[in-house]
Amino acid sequence: MSHPQSPGLGAATLAIHSQQQKDAFGSPHMPIYDTTTFTYPDTAALLEVTEGHRRAPLYSRYGHNPTLYALEETLAALEEAEVAWAFSSGMAAISTLFLSHGQSGIVCLGEVYGGTLSLLEQQLPELGINTHFLLEGHDPDALENLLESGVRLVYLETPTNPTLRLVDIAAVAEQAHRHGALVAVDSTFATPINQQPLTLGADIVLHSATKYLGGHSDLTAGVVMGSAKLLDPMWPWRQNLGCALSPQIASLLSRSLRTLSLRVQRHNTSALAIAETMSGHPAIARVLYPGLASHPGHHLACRQMRGFGGMLTLEFVGGRNAAAKVADQLTLFAIAPSLGGAESLVTQPCTTSHADLSAEERKRRGITDGMLRLSVGLEDVEDLLNDLHHAITTLEES
Ligand code: PLP
Repeated sequence: MSHPQSPGLGAATLAIHSQQQKDAFGSPHMPIYDTTTFTYPDTAALLEVTEGHRRAPLYSRYGHNPTLYALEETLAALEEAEVAWAFSSGMAAISTLFLSHGQSGIVCLGEVYGGTLSLLEQQLPELGINTHFLLEGHDPDALENLLESGVRLVYLETPTNPTLRLVDIAAVAEQAHRHGALVAVDSTFATPINQQPLTLGADIVLHSATKYLGGHSDLTAGVVMGSAKLLDPMWPWRQNLGCALSPQIASLLSRSLRTLSLRVQRHNTSALAIAETMSGHPAIARVLYPGLASHPGHHLACRQMRGFGGMLTLEFVGGRNAAAKVADQLTLFAIAPSLGGAESLVTQPCTTSHADLSAEERKRRGITDGMLRLSVGLEDVEDLLNDLHHAITTLEES
């Protein structure tokens, strides 16, 4: 859905006031239209809609549903996008993007989520789509060669998982646009509160809304945003793959967005406090967090992000066993492979998200066995710090 220009309004206000769709009874939020289809008084009225003369709800699988429209208006406002489309998962959004825009080849910059990597490495090549990988992130010479060879979709995540590396969105967009290529950014880790890729020059932004946008570990959803012209080719794919978001989950996600700004501010301040406190701890070799001046991407983070997010990675001096021991001793950080919820979570990449890679491959990607990735939740930060200190003390006892 397109949204009216709202110059000057902040993200917290936009999250609450961007819905133009209203129900007939003045509900302050769009109720759940728990309906498969929408009826029309006569054939002429139906034709007006099916022939595209008037936009109105028709069939929920098509994404034609007022609850979805209302959600999409809010999402578009938050990313300053013309259009947002909601999907049944982050992977549904990402695969629909690749199928509709990837025919001339896709280049993936840096580290990406495992499901995305598997699509790019295995399923898409099986369909004849050429995919390329520049593991170092933005390598201008290598990217130039690929763009010259005709690759037309550049895909990246920033910050990345689990090393929290950054990619310079504006620089990639400038280079890609000289060749007429599109840049799509998975901005899941950042959220629109901390980073707006479209304002930096990207063409398309995606989120796994399962994470921070949902924010409570109770829904699965995805979203793609950009101009109507660029999203149009995705329309038949979303319709015919049948992966539009359900109205029930759209309503839950709309509710979550109303507190997104508050939640993200809290994630930002708590993660920064933990990163600063853990830096220099004798049991910890490195703290990876873009908000630390020691982070190699800190200057870029200051340029392209407004906050540094709730994700950080600790690397333990004692390696794999020490990291596992700390994870096992934590009580407020639960061991689980997701992120972005109210509750704090911890994972050891070498035993979970990156367990399928060889030790050599993990090393190539800068992922060490002693790393623990933290998704810092909304608990009191003093309690989270106490939990970490207590868990780390057990290393000294052994
Ligand atoms: N993108 C990122 C950065 C992710 O971390 C994930 C999942 O963890 C996805 C996409 C896929 O999202 P979903 O699980 O909603 O399909």
